[in-house]
Amino acid sequence: MPEELERLGIDYAFQGEADDIAPGLFEEIANGLPGGTWGPAFFKGFQTFDSGFRKSWVGHDKFLTRTRFSKQTPTLEEIPEIRKPSMKSLVEVMRGCGIGCDFCEVTLRPLRYYPYEKIMKEVQVNARQGGFTNVWFHTDEVFAYQHGRNFEPNTDALTGLFKAIMSVRGVSQMNPTHGRISIPAAYPDLMRELSEIGRAGPSNWVGVQVGIETGSDRLAKLHMPNKALPLKIGPDGPWQDIVRRGVYVMNKYYWRPAFTVQVGQAGETPEDNWETVALINRLSNSVLDDGRAFEFTVTPMQNVPLGMMKSRAFRSGLLDESQLAVYYASYRHLAKVAARDAARDSSGSILSRYGTSALIAIGGRAMLEAVSAVCRRGGLDVEKAARYGLGGVGQAPTPKTTRVPEGDG
Ligand code: SF4
Repeated sequence: MPEELERLGIDYAFQGEADDIAPGLFEEIANGLPGGTWGPAFFKGFQTFDSGFRKSWVGHDKFLTRTRFSKQTPTLEEIPEIRKPSMKSLVEVMRGCGIGCDFCEVTLRPLRYYPYEKIMKEVQVNARQGGFTNVWFHTDEVFAYQHGRNFEPNTDALTGLFKAIMSVRGVSQMNPTHGRISIPAAYPDLMRELSEIGRAGPSNWVGVQVGIETGSDRLAKLHMPNKALPLKIGPDGPWQDIVRRGVYVMNKYYWRPAFTVQVGQAGETPEDNWETVALINRLSNSVLDDGRAFEFTVTPMQNVPLGMMKSRAFRSGLLDESQLAVYYASYRHLAKVAARDAARDSSGSILSRYGTSALIAIGGRAMLEAVSAVCRRGGLDVEKAARYGLGGVGQAPTPKTTRVPEGDG
């Protein structure tokens, strides 16, 4: 959306990783592009991708990126360490991913794993200078850190990473930013161990964003066949079962996933979206062995790959009935979580806790009413969306049980 850059008075947006070339970039801009002592090292425009991940360079006055034949990313050694505390105590532990989901540019970046020493130095800066006790460590797929064959998790590397972070003086909490659901589903013992190292517990939940994207086996296999690795969708159960097992293990060891789901994926049908509605409703009505409700949030998103967003006008467009149903099911669950957890998780005196939790619950209900009104106007039967996947006439059958059986994974 280059017109936004214009409106905000921004001269150039740089696209890509800039750690190794930032000084040359500023020098060129200061000297008037193109030129500078580094020569015309930058392309005036942006890189974009077609549906087959083929890259092309598109000229544009508001963007700068690396030229076609130059090095595209910094090496590990060229990525400098932070000198001052970072926002929210965020430190990187790796770049790239490699799983290969077809809507994600991260997967195209070369994999670089930061050594423990580098990570610990940055955590120390945040803890000592910033006074942070919590560490957000950024990765687009934490369980891929130094992964093994077939994206099997590297237990030693992961436990070593968690131990290194928690060993920094002053740190009492840690959260990875992103991770896949299949690893908790398949490796409960690893999750127990990581939780112990991270001191997770009823008053110290580990939050992590998890892209489950869909409830449809067909779409999952089409767009993200490797996201379930080392499990396989089909032989190891439907995608929905893998997700349910993953949530069970995460919650059991006090990890709270923040899910994202997508609508508008290429080749999507209304049936695929209704499968996503069914998944959300089923998870929302599932409990652990001790009766605790599944803890998760879910955020619906419209599928707009970043590369495509830069190369065409972005229009939010109108959601069809099945897409509205995904939004409705997501917000319905969020309102339920707000009402359920607000009292438990708010702090202060009884009076302020009562006030805070009432406000959050009312806010959740108001949000759901607003979403319901939009959905009804769009022709959605919200009662159908609320029940879908939970059994009943003309409904997708409920899976065997909503209580996930004992015996992890
Ligand atoms: S697992 Fe996540 S980061 Fe990796 S390719 Fe898929 S969407 Fe991208």
